[in-house]
Amino acid sequence: MFDPRQLISRLISAYYRDATDLYPRHIEKREFSFGTFDSKVAGRHFAFESEKRFTEYLTSAAPLYVSCSQAYYRFPAARPMEAKVLLGAEMVFDIDATDMNLPCQKEHGKKWVCAVCFDAVKAETIKLIEEFLVPDFGFAEKEIAINFSGNRGYHLHINSKSVLKLDNYARREISEYIAGTGINFDEFFPTVGVEGTRLKKLMGPKPTDKGWQGKIANNFLDSLNKGVESLEGLGMTPIQAKQLYEKRALVELGIRSGNWDMVFIKKKDEFWKGVIAKQAIMQGDKIDKNVTADPTHLLRLPNSIHGDTGLLAKKVGTRSSLEKFEPMKEGIAFRKGEAKIHVTNSPQLTINGQSYGPYADEDVILPIYAAAYLHLKGVGSIKGYRSSAKA
Ligand SMILES: [Zn+2]
Repeated sequence: MFDPRQLISRLISAYYRDATDLYPRHIEKREFSFGTFDSKVAGRHFAFESEKRFTEYLTSAAPLYVSCSQAYYRFPAARPMEAKVLLGAEMVFDIDATDMNLPCQKEHGKKWVCAVCFDAVKAETIKLIEEFLVPDFGFAEKEIAINFSGNRGYHLHINSKSVLKLDNYARREISEYIAGTGINFDEFFPTVGVEGTRLKKLMGPKPTDKGWQGKIANNFLDSLNKGVESLEGLGMTPIQAKQLYEKRALVELGIRSGNWDMVFIKKKDEFWKGVIAKQAIMQGDKIDKNVTADPTHLLRLPNSIHGDTGLLAKKVGTRSSLEKFEPMKEGIAFRKGEAKIHVTNSPQLTINGQSYGPYADEDVILPIYAAAYLHLKGVGSIKGYRSSAKA
């Protein structure tokens, strides 16, 4: 009887036998975990003294998931955790389309990922780098290694000496800063609450300001120029939105010099504070869960296979390589052969530049990478395989 699990294990083993560029820095100081068809983390506390031993293990065990600690330990295999002796840890950011509440997810479900999801998660990753990591934390782009997660998002690894020794508390602080948790908006408008402010000019953040102030001013100007609907999204009434939009040139001119008082608005202090709070929440929500404050966290090993898709958690490189990266093309691991698969129910799949489906309760013959993807996503079952495609 044909067993699809055996086939997939064989493909995984063959991938690891030939894989290059698989080894994390200081492999002997890392903890590894492996997952199977039944459990994503079937075992942890693994350690390997050399790259050779690691490849031997991957080739013989053919694990469906491989995770690696962001931490370096003196004794990575020891347990309990304290016995490992933490030497330092990279900082990692995890950006997943699932957390972004995209409209397309209502159609295809949270487990699936489409081209729109991929574009959105890429844009969010670029934003995290360009609006936070580089300007606010001072990391160089070359210190930020980007990987496709192997499923629906990207992982960023900060390889900077300055982060290795940060404790949980410092990591949490960074996460809260990026999410905009606990921002004090009163500080953005220094004239608010001061005696006689009703008559004073309302001064606020400028686009050239550092940190959240600059982001808030810039993003507000974006919303302003996008139109009435986008302003209403910030909690304005249709009348207020229309009033601001019509005078947008004047409003923008004012905000560029920190003057948020160019048009008459009733209860202007409360109005602007409400608008800005709403905007910060919209921004913060998307990146809220992305920082792993816990340095003992294990994360998918770059260039290993992701068992939910059969794709690689592919190394992308740095910021300059991300723009052109195509996850459903460059992430392909199994390239040889084709499979017969019974698909129960699947949205359209676009992989390696080709679109397949949608399928409902039918047998199809597909390239092995497409069949493995559908099988591992749980929307079909592989029935047979041949390693060379028909002539
Ligand atoms: Zn989508």
